[in-house]
Amino acid sequence: MTTDVYKTTCCYCGVGCGVIVRKDKQGALTAEGDPDHPVNRGQLCSKGMNLHHTVNDRSDRLLYPQMRYNKQSPMQRVSWDAALERTAAVFRTFIDKYGPDSVAIYASGQCLTEEYYTLNKLMKGFIGSNNIDTNSRLCMSSAVVAYKMALGEDSVPGCYEDVDTADCIYVDGANPAWCHPILWRRVEAAKAANPDLVLIVADPRRTDTATTADIHLQLRPGTDIALNNAIARVLIENGDIDIDFIHDHTEGFETYRARVFQRTVAEAAAICGVSVEDIRRTARSIAASKGFITMWTMGLNQSVAGVHKNLSLISLNLITGHIGKPGSGPFSLTGQPNAMGGREVGGLATLLAAHRDLKNPAHRLEVQTYWGSGPISATPGLTAPEMFAALESGRLKAVWIIGTNPLVSLPDVRAAERGLSKARFVVVQEVSRKPETLAYADVVLPAAAWAEKEGTMTNSERRISRLHKVTDAPGEALADWEIICRLATAMGFPGFSYKSPSEIYDEHAGLTKGTNIDVSGVNYALLGSGGTVQWPLPAAGASAASPAGPGGPSTAALTPRGAAFGPAGTPRLFTDRHFYTPSGRARFHDLPDDARGETTDGDYPFILTTGRIRDQWHTMSKTGKVRKLNQHIPRSFVEMHPDDARRLGVAEDDLICVSSRRGEVVVRARVTDSIRRGVLFLPMHWGKILQSDLNRANNVTKNVVDPLSGEPDFKYCAVAAEKY
Ligand code: SF4
Repeated sequence: MTTDVYKTTCCYCGVGCGVIVRKDKQGALTAEGDPDHPVNRGQLCSKGMNLHHTVNDRSDRLLYPQMRYNKQSPMQRVSWDAALERTAAVFRTFIDKYGPDSVAIYASGQCLTEEYYTLNKLMKGFIGSNNIDTNSRLCMSSAVVAYKMALGEDSVPGCYEDVDTADCIYVDGANPAWCHPILWRRVEAAKAANPDLVLIVADPRRTDTATTADIHLQLRPGTDIALNNAIARVLIENGDIDIDFIHDHTEGFETYRARVFQRTVAEAAAICGVSVEDIRRTARSIAASKGFITMWTMGLNQSVAGVHKNLSLISLNLITGHIGKPGSGPFSLTGQPNAMGGREVGGLATLLAAHRDLKNPAHRLEVQTYWGSGPISATPGLTAPEMFAALESGRLKAVWIIGTNPLVSLPDVRAAERGLSKARFVVVQEVSRKPETLAYADVVLPAAAWAEKEGTMTNSERRISRLHKVTDAPGEALADWEIICRLATAMGFPGFSYKSPSEIYDEHAGLTKGTNIDVSGVNYALLGSGGTVQWPLPAAGASAASPAGPGGPSTAALTPRGAAFGPAGTPRLFTDRHFYTPSGRARFHDLPDDARGETTDGDYPFILTTGRIRDQWHTMSKTGKVRKLNQHIPRSFVEMHPDDARRLGVAEDDLICVSSRRGEVVVRARVTDSIRRGVLFLPMHWGKILQSDLNRANNVTKNVVDPLSGEPDFKYCAVAAEKY
């Protein structure tokens, strides 16, 4: 490989595609798919193909640290030392005066594992508070809790390879054709190779994913549990369940069964707004399959009953014994590129490093001893929405926001604005000048972007890959890990004098030793250039591993508890049917089926659901810079059914005001029969445009969360709609 060709990883979604980046003599980058990468085999979706534009165009970049001395003063350029010393001093003052829980960090699923690790070490170990949360709270936290409740560990049992051999795939609450496109191409290829593969999609909208389905269950929003319980009832009634597996390897089945049998299939069908026959067809397809995969993402996670929705789907794998074998398993698709890596290092206010349990005193002691830190608090920290409420109430004094844009992405976003406007001290660590949070910042720390720093990420199938530094960051921007470590040192904490992200990774890997996610055998040398491995990979196996190649090292000899590895080195978990619960059994749960985030009424009769479009990512600070991506859908819109449009006198492209008890959005109408009557859809991406925030979907969403996961419900709020 010449010095101007680099193998790295796409920084958008959890599929984790390999990218080859070339740098020409002028320093301009181009990106293409890595043909040797086991995930994407040379393919990239529209976002990945245009990654280089986000780095080549530096017109929006933050170049220098800035700060203001009080809220009335203007922002001014300062040195790194001045910015970090002031931040350290203010944080120290608040901690000394009000205690460690008076400060917080709000970071991102875009952060690399090394960044996540150092942030958690700083906050949980040295500051002594668990007030560190990330935007993964809005994304995957329901799946984290559900996996733990069902399987005893936050572990995705399967891998992408399973798609190739499944003969029934049930996607509930996801649109991977748009949001995980390269994985969906693998599903389409599997279907082309095996026309008997049955695709089932549950979604209130006829998305591109649903269009390819053999069965589209166009359910009412919020009724997934009723649907999945009804499918389970049919499977149980017909004897199409794996009695031996249930008896030998699970617990709680009778409670689950009793709940499932509380509704007839006809009752459930009426609740869901789907036909009895489609429920029965779905059950027959699952029953006939030798390999059955369930897939889901935000449609289930982002719900007031997100954990129970997850469990209702995972339970279908458990009653049929379709877990821990090729072609089968419950597979949560991570939205963000490193949501899994973040979870590995304990990157939420409710987690501890290396999948240890925050509530367990022995686990806390292990981690604090390893770090040489002070005591780790047993009290879970503030979740993302709670942080902004605590800023508003004054309970929280200072927040350090890293690589995320809460003033577009949080539910009931005007409440988050109120929180930031009341905050005593706001630090924003960012790549771009665009995020709305910058208007509230007291200190701005310019960060390096993708391809300007190195580190690792873990994708949805537990695959760890490296990201390489290809080019220098502009101006004085620094890699996030370096900013974090310099700030920790400025606060007077030892243990942050790393010379490279590789050193940080080694420390993280050492902390996983002996756990279910043991990656003590992984290091930068093993990952090499373009190499990837899936966890677990304990140190003993790494010594037997061949050099990291396209598919990663051979791990055939490794069999940690519950894991087995296929010939290509692909680990599946629970192949020995031993789960990570205390009893070793997977757990069923009682799953009541009401999952409405808010009640509709005469004033607010529509159900609003929000989501992504194909060519934009989150709040558009990267994809919004790329002309080609903006061409796909150039402006925000609201989808509504033709019957609803007719009733409201609305025609295509009319301006529509969507309002709720929280606020208003004014966008153009898209009239389409692909959405259910009575349901509206708004894309999540747009924020302020020319000082107007009327495109911002979260003006109207409600800050109501799942009580088990703290994840907000973005899929069910009551709104009104009228011509503007
Ligand atoms: Fe990147 Fe995801 Fe597209 Fe792959 S599928 S290129 S990881 S955005």
